[in-house]
Amino acid sequence: MNTHERSSFSKEHKNNIRAALKRFSNTRIEQKIVVELKRRGVKFEQNVGVSSIKNVDFYLPKQNVVIECNSCFYHACLEHGHPAYHQYARTDDAADTRVLEKHGYNVFRFWEHEINASVEKRVNQIENETRN
Ligand SMILES: [Zn+2]
Repeated sequence: MNTHERSSFSKEHKNNIRAALKRFSNTRIEQKIVVELKRRGVKFEQNVGVSSIKNVDFYLPKQNVVIECNSCFYHACLEHGHPAYHQYARTDDAADTRVLEKHGYNVFRFWEHEINASVEKRVNQIENETRN
């Protein structure tokens, strides 16, 4: 068990750091999502607080979908992430997803490498899984 991940930082301090890193690292993958959603004429809001729960990367009002883009490094994807981030990043992400789902949102969390491989596939997945 790696004990590295539980630092002495407060939760708030950690969240501030992560928010700043996220803003810095996510711009490029978020831009790919923006282009694809616009191409399909899907209505969306970006960096928006949903029901004052938290700030999410994208919200699609018609589908009630939340999209979160996880940078491989800072959200600690198993292939490309930094081992020191693995435990707490993944735990925090899972907790966020549960809160959002509890409030009725359809949550899609994509890795940077998934978006880079095919943003089209990711948006197809959203459309397929939210089709009534
Ligand atoms: Zn990755």
